Amino acid sequence: MDNTADKQELLDKRYIRMAFIWAENSYCKRRRVGAILVKNKMIISDGYNGTPAGFENVCEDENNITKPYVLHAEANAITKVARSNNSSEGATLYVTSAPCIECAKLIIQAGIKRVVYADSYRLSDGIDLLKRANIEVVAIDLDE
Ligand SMILES: [Zn+2]
Repeated sequence: MDNTADKQELLDKRYIRMAFIWAENSYCKRRRVGAILVKNKMIISDGYNGTPAGFENVCEDENNITKPYVLHAEANAITKVARSNNSSEGATLYVTSAPCIECAKLIIQAGIKRVVYADSYRLSDGIDLLKRANIEVVAIDLDE
């Protein structure tokens, strides 16, 4: 097996494990998702699902339904880098779950070139959209 590919897979797994650890920051009860944005071997941003800054740290309403203004981990990572001096252009996004279609649109527009995820989502339209935009999509199995 190709040595460079081996190294890349090792790195991918490590960043995905970091994304899982980062997901522990989420105060959402139904689902916790973490994301890490990496560029030139540097972590330039991170995110987990949650309400916008300044809002209550509760994701679900009294009926345990996720509030419509909860941001996904990917959206939080992308908007965080937008407020920094860095750029997501050409970056790799590591996310614990496959992106939904709304996040896929943001990923494309943010210039992210590679997406690595662990858990698949019930819908594949987000992944399909990323592939259509020629973004490299890698599914990682941590149990392997
Ligand atoms: Zn999403």
